[in-house]
Amino acid sequence: VAELGTPTRSVITTCAYCGVGCSFKAELNGDQLVRMVPWKHGKANRGHSCVKGRFAYGYAAHRDRILRPMIRERIEDPWREVEWDEALAFAAERMRAIQARHGRRSVGVITSSRCTNEETYLVQKLARAVFGNNNTDTCARVCHSPTGYGLGKTFGTSAGTQDFDSVEQTDVVLIIGANPTDGHPVFASRLKKRLRAGARLIVVDPRRTDIVRSAHVEADHHLPLRPGTNVAVISAMAHVIVTEGLMDEGFIRDRCDWNEFLHFAEFIRDPRHAPEATEALTGVPAADLRAAARLFATGGNGAIYYGLGVTEHSQGSTTVMAIANLAMLTGNIGRPGVGVNPLRGQNNVQGACDMGSFPHELPGYRHVKLPDVRAIFEKAWGVEIDPEPGLRIPNMLDAAVEGTFRGLYCQGEDILQSDPDTQHVAAALAAMDCVIVHDLFLNETANYAHVFLPGSSFLEKDGTFTNAERRINRVRRVMAPRNGYEDWQVTQMLANAMGAGWHYTHPSQIMAEIAATTPSFAGVTYERLEELGSVQWPCNEDAPEGTPLMHVDGFQAGRGHFMVTEYVPTDERTGPRFPLLLTTGRILSQYNVGAQTRRTDNTAWHPEDLLEMHPHDAENRGIAEGDWVRLASRSGETTLRVAVTDRVLPGVVYTTFHHPVTQANVVTTDFSDWATNCPEYKVTAVQVSPSNGP
Ligand code: SF4
Repeated sequence: VAELGTPTRSVITTCAYCGVGCSFKAELNGDQLVRMVPWKHGKANRGHSCVKGRFAYGYAAHRDRILRPMIRERIEDPWREVEWDEALAFAAERMRAIQARHGRRSVGVITSSRCTNEETYLVQKLARAVFGNNNTDTCARVCHSPTGYGLGKTFGTSAGTQDFDSVEQTDVVLIIGANPTDGHPVFASRLKKRLRAGARLIVVDPRRTDIVRSAHVEADHHLPLRPGTNVAVISAMAHVIVTEGLMDEGFIRDRCDWNEFLHFAEFIRDPRHAPEATEALTGVPAADLRAAARLFATGGNGAIYYGLGVTEHSQGSTTVMAIANLAMLTGNIGRPGVGVNPLRGQNNVQGACDMGSFPHELPGYRHVKLPDVRAIFEKAWGVEIDPEPGLRIPNMLDAAVEGTFRGLYCQGEDILQSDPDTQHVAAALAAMDCVIVHDLFLNETANYAHVFLPGSSFLEKDGTFTNAERRINRVRRVMAPRNGYEDWQVTQMLANAMGAGWHYTHPSQIMAEIAATTPSFAGVTYERLEELGSVQWPCNEDAPEGTPLMHVDGFQAGRGHFMVTEYVPTDERTGPRFPLLLTTGRILSQYNVGAQTRRTDNTAWHPEDLLEMHPHDAENRGIAEGDWVRLASRSGETTLRVAVTDRVLPGVVYTTFHHPVTQANVVTTDFSDWATNCPEYKVTAVQVSPSNGP
């Protein structure tokens, strides 16, 4: 700060890392950003922040930023810097040629949960209104797509039910497959404050995360399950609640479909779901499971928070539905202190899903097959919309290898690093005729690109992000885009190069179009956001100031739907060659594949990914703390150092995936959630052996 001088002005904006959505005051000296100060009036953070939002913004000025467009004929050729017009004309011509030769469904887009709502809306519109197909998907595919499916089926809408304030009235917190201290630090602080004030805590996680035992907080029950058995554990809890008569029958009769409940109750009463019957499978002692179920059902207001440890499984969607069943069974929906709350990983994963990024849904989670929904957008956009759902990311990649999908516009997403089975992703990208990467940096995916369009950072754009509590926060331009254009402008220029004729001059106009076409956003305007600071959707005539709590008088779906959630083991099995189970997660100072945080001083806190291994497993292999090891699976292998710790169970190893040199996804499998294709990152059979290093 001393070097940069005294701030002379400030701009309020929103952190671009996790789904908490903290508000910051960006303080500038002239055009020079001096510091980011957590904003005390931010409704999601109230003046608090973590080391990412507070310090890890230097990537925006990093020398690795690419500021001029580049093109090349073939991926073997060197990049050639060109003017924007030439790059866009080159990209448009290639995409047109592909469609002329292989049909309109041979190209598609991938939107980013890092970009604003307005940018995401335009990218899916590019696919639907310009390319003429529904080949649009988002990186939520690899994180919270099962939330969309599971909560949609049970409650009728894909969103967390509560605001963050709600936790202050919670009596029992159930955390499943989430590590809020590292993943959602500012919310974790609020959670811990409530726990210190007396709320009880149950944690379902194969690893002893910080929230299980930390200063002044200790879980009443830690259920350290075997990775891949979430459904069996939650079903066992539901079994105890139903067979011991602990359910909230009044709530179920008033609010849920009674016949579906009876069907579910008959299913869950079966002795195969009893904790004693599942103990050997899940590894969780039956007595602990019974005690946890009784506490959740009888301890007062019960709130469930979950993360990617729930969704990134072959039964991710089933687990989300099992969680929703548990909340309905105990009457924990529709009032403060209760609810089902997916902790969204990325700053705008909620918004990316809301904005129609999925290949089967238009904005507002409305199926593309519905003629009346298509008609709304056809009128607004002046085009005919393809009634056939498009391809999901894994389907795009498979089709590329087969030769039927040949062009991709990928905004703000490094699929080569973030998607499973790296070799398959590389083969798919290499098979395409036109890959357009729109990003801040020449990421790993760009190695296979023909066109590189420079992106703008969150400091350089106007727009909105929607956080994990459905809160729409303003993102405000702090400085001019270093590349010359905000991302929504680049998408518009690409659309126009293909003949679209779009003429937005500010993201507020895009939001006006979203509001006009999407009922849950009908009352959202930039003026209202200025007036209220932020609003939580649904925001419309019925709720002009937004909706902090969902499903208060009735579910979005009318009545709540109990779903039968049978446990089906993953096809990924341990065996003599691969006897350990690998699971993955994040660390506080770093973020996802590290594209941003690795380009900041935060790297000093976590310079490399480590493999956590139980002392027994390490000793059996002659491995000591800090040793290099080879981590191998049926898919591939990588090399990293070991941290010997009893935070993980014997038979389980754990690593983060922040550093490209580790390439943790080289070893992950291509198994995925049965309903949504969300990859099963959390269960990989592996072997670990000593190594001399990379
Ligand atoms: Fe940013 Fe999340 Fe940290 Fe808040 S908690 S500062 S939103 S990374």
